[in-house]
Amino acid sequence: MDCPDCGDERTRVIDTEPSADGTSVRRRRECQRCSFRFTTYERPAWNSLQVKKRDGAVEPFDRSKLRAGIERAVEKRRIADRTVTKLVDDVERTVQERETRLVTSSVIGELVSERLHEIDRVAYVRFVSVYEAFSDPEEFRRELDAVLDDEVDDFDRSQPADSSSNT
Ligand SMILES: [Zn+2]
Repeated sequence: MDCPDCGDERTRVIDTEPSADGTSVRRRRECQRCSFRFTTYERPAWNSLQVKKRDGAVEPFDRSKLRAGIERAVEKRRIADRTVTKLVDDVERTVQERETRLVTSSVIGELVSERLHEIDRVAYVRFVSVYEAFSDPEEFRRELDAVLDDEVDDFDRSQPADSSSNT
């Protein structure tokens, strides 16, 4: 655990206790170099979940990576942070509750895209285009067309009611 202040890797744990809700462990740490003290929250039971990526590599599940991928998709869409947090929580809980400790990145991608579809269609299309969640390019095009149609509808509705009378 690197010191957030000076970056030195020599930090030691000075106190450990479970968090109030029991889902994580709170640790007070102190940097051996600059004496900076900081707190970390660890989720021991969740650290064991592994993600198998498309290229076959396996790495520990990383909530911040999941969130970063979703945040890229919702960029500049009017979607509240708490909505993103809820989505991440929801997907994380779903994969953690599976019996297996190994989940493929495509399963995670599907879980996210299902939920994004309900939240925001543009974010959804951005997400699936990055994660290649569609196996069929035609299916992707249909989704994209549907989203573009929705956007045009939104635009039409935002125009004054009499704007079409003088055409
Ligand atoms: Zn330090």
